[in-house]
Amino acid sequence: MAKTTKQPVATSTPSKLKKAEDTEKKEEKKEENKAVSRTAKAKKEEKEVKVEEVKPAQKPAKTTEEKDKAEVTIEKKLMALYNLQQIDSQIDKIRIIRGELPLEVQDLEDEIAGLETRIDNYIQESEGFEKSIGEKKTAIKESQALIKKYEDQQMNVRNNREYDSLSKEVEFQNLEIQLSEKRILEYQQSLEEKKIEIEKFQQVLQDRKNDLEIKKSELDDIIAETEKEENDLVKKSEENRKFIEERLITAYTRIRKNARNGLAVVQIERDACGGCFNKIPPQHQLDIRMHKKIIVCEYCGRILVDDGIINLVS
Ligand SMILES: [Zn+2]
Repeated sequence: MAKTTKQPVATSTPSKLKKAEDTEKKEEKKEENKAVSRTAKAKKEEKEVKVEEVKPAQKPAKTTEEKDKAEVTIEKKLMALYNLQQIDSQIDKIRIIRGELPLEVQDLEDEIAGLETRIDNYIQESEGFEKSIGEKKTAIKESQALIKKYEDQQMNVRNNREYDSLSKEVEFQNLEIQLSEKRILEYQQSLEEKKIEIEKFQQVLQDRKNDLEIKKSELDDIIAETEKEENDLVKKSEENRKFIEERLITAYTRIRKNARNGLAVVQIERDACGGCFNKIPPQHQLDIRMHKKIIVCEYCGRILVDDGIINLVS
């Protein structure tokens, strides 16, 4: 049943076309007949006019013309999509490079803050040692004063017992002095060690501060450099989007968001999807090469293009 109803429809168009062609031919003949009787110059003019006259006669052929137009549009859409992907990938690249630099600067700033804290702690510890040395020096002076006092008292003792007792006090204070001197030496040693450490870390700190300055100016340069480039690309991306219908842009944006590498439009590479590397069936590949439909990868959903589109774009 379907076959029989289909057939008349299929034949009707060519018959119409034929009719149109016939009228066209008749008109052409008329024109030609007219032209024969005229000069060559006039004939040329007539030919130009003829082109215009012929136009209405071509009307029935418009259906195939429209079909061609639709195909070109899909091809153009694919080209626009591929082009858009190239632009957006460039923008991604710029943003990644710029995204890593602030992190490096941040790392350096953190390291510098850590070093400064460490140096501050060492300085405080050093101050503690200096304070202790001062205390021990005071203690020595006090012991020396006591010794002098005991020795003076020994001049006026009434018996040996008192004298011996004072001698023991003097001996004790002398031991205290020795102990304090020992401690002072220890503190001085620690102080010396801290001093070396502080110098060492201050050198490291200075190096890091220099690194930071370099990185910061590098970052400023890159930001200034890439900002213009990025803005130009964003403008180009927006202009390109105008050629693509909303539905496709939405799909493109969604695929790009879900894809780790931001690729929504990929090329066929060695019979496989350039995004997920799954094999593409031969029939699918054929359809892709025809540029008559927008075909997505059945595994990852990315829009697929062949090198024909890429060549057309470049
Ligand atoms: Zn895929």
